[in-house]
Amino acid sequence: MIEAIQRKPDAWLNERLATRGFRFTRQREHVYAVLLRKRDHPTAEEVFIRVKHDMPGISMATVYNCLDALVECGLARQVTLERGATRFCPNMREHGHFYCGQCKSVFDIELADGPGVALPKGYRAERYDIAIHGRCAACGNGKRGRGNGSGAASGMAE
Ligand SMILES: [Zn+2]
Ligand SMILES: [Zn+2]
Repeated sequence: MIEAIQRKPDAWLNERLATRGFRFTRQREHVYAVLLRKRDHPTAEEVFIRVKHDMPGISMATVYNCLDALVECGLARQVTLERGATRFCPNMREHGHFYCGQCKSVFDIELADGPGVALPKGYRAERYDIAIHGRCAACGNGKRGRGNGSGAASGMAE
């Protein structure tokens, strides 16, 4: 999928949008590019700020419209916390989300073997939406930034 985007981004996105009757627009393309560029699960408002950086004339309503179209076409999904604004995630593989209560970041968690829950007999899972709350690696050890020799400083980018 990523390769397809790199080879012919316009045609590929155009095709995906067309499956649900949406037109390809520069705005939709740009909103999607912004989601792919930094996968930190931004809210619609954060997407708006990032999109505006390169496309100063775009309105919040247009960004909402673009996000709706991307979700509708299966190019992005909405991620909702019990509190707070809806966030957007372009990772369409089944995965869970880890919420760090300290830095408020949201991370994708691969769940290769499914949700890991024993369902009652006769129940069949079609999709799942798993949220794990806690502290990420950077926050969990209580020494963000300058660790003494544990590799914390060089591990920040990961
Ligand atoms: Zn954290
Ligand atoms: Zn995600």
